[in-house]
Amino acid sequence: MLSFIRSDLSQFTAYKPHTSSNTALSIKASTENDRLDANESPYDLPSPIKEKLAWIYQQSIETNRYPDGGHQLLKQAIAEYVNESANSANTDKSNFTAENISIGNGSDELIRSLFIATCLGGEGSVLIANPTFVMYGILAKTLGIPVVDALRNPETFEIDIKAAQAAVENTHPNIRVVCVVHPNSPTGNPLTEKELAWLKNLPENILVVIDEAYFEFSQNTLAVELTQHPNWVILRTFSKAFRLAAMRVGYCIAHPELIAILEKVRLPYNIPSFSLSAALIAMQNRQLVLNSIPQTLSERSKLIETLSKNPMLKVWDSAANFVFLRLTHNQVDSQESIKTLHQKLKQNGTLVREINGGLRITVGTPEENLRTINNLQTALKNL
Ligand SMILES: *Cc1c(COP(=O)(O)O)cnc(C)c1O
Repeated sequence: MLSFIRSDLSQFTAYKPHTSSNTALSIKASTENDRLDANESPYDLPSPIKEKLAWIYQQSIETNRYPDGGHQLLKQAIAEYVNESANSANTDKSNFTAENISIGNGSDELIRSLFIATCLGGEGSVLIANPTFVMYGILAKTLGIPVVDALRNPETFEIDIKAAQAAVENTHPNIRVVCVVHPNSPTGNPLTEKELAWLKNLPENILVVIDEAYFEFSQNTLAVELTQHPNWVILRTFSKAFRLAAMRVGYCIAHPELIAILEKVRLPYNIPSFSLSAALIAMQNRQLVLNSIPQTLSERSKLIETLSKNPMLKVWDSAANFVFLRLTHNQVDSQESIKTLHQKLKQNGTLVREINGGLRITVGTPEENLRTINNLQTALKNL
């Protein structure tokens, strides 16, 4: 209809915001539901930290002034955290500084900046392996960048390396970016040795994006590899384990030359002052903010163990704060049944994500998880 709009934009489907943030739905008020559809933490910030943040908002944020556009303090705090997390698991010591960090309005902004910096204007294509985080495909398409899908093994969700390698060799415009999520969403599997070996062998003219949004749950980071691989970038976020989804802060770790390019590409004041303060305080108090993780991990095990006992379900192991499941193959129409299951859960106040022919269920509080199990078992009986 609007003849000035790029023709390719009318073709694609936008990201659908999660129901938990959609107040227009004719279901119960969102806070009465168990919101297990966006992999957020079930817990708000600890009150002492929230109070401190409120104090900062009142006492030191001047709302009439632009925010700090350089993010230096937050970058330093993040670099320290990255070193701490990388070094606890490895003998090679990493020494990242603020020069290795760029901060985005959510890691979504960084993904877009990376695509702009590499592929825009017909310069390259992006390789992903579905099922994976949907924003990679969506952001590439909004920029008119071709997306190639390497697919995964339907049982293990391991990337089809042969297909991926063939795509790298045969795609025009050339694959400039390979995106992997570690552990993957919605399937919860971390990268395997074989996948890692392939990534390590990719030529240096291909950017490798490793999305560690769920690092705090997997405790498995590839940060130490960055010194060997200047063509790698690691993405992290404050939206999951750090309990700050409302603030929209993400960051990446990379070679200083790549960071300098990202700093050129981003909008000048991309992070609001309040979000910068929240991220800094959460980082400085990370022991307290991250203290709910052991509970999430044990709740995840319980959820997987209990749901696996139901013969109608195939439940995958997970290294993140969510669980992926499908119906076993003897269902008549598995796709339709998953949709029904999703609807029934919703009617009973359990919001989960229906995706890739299955359900992705965030690990919530112990009470929420009990309700998930009960609602799911009941819905399955009535399928
Ligand atoms: C949640 C998530 C993110 C975080 O996105 P933000 O924009 O930082 O909120 C990034 N990658 C993956 C795979 C995710 O699941």
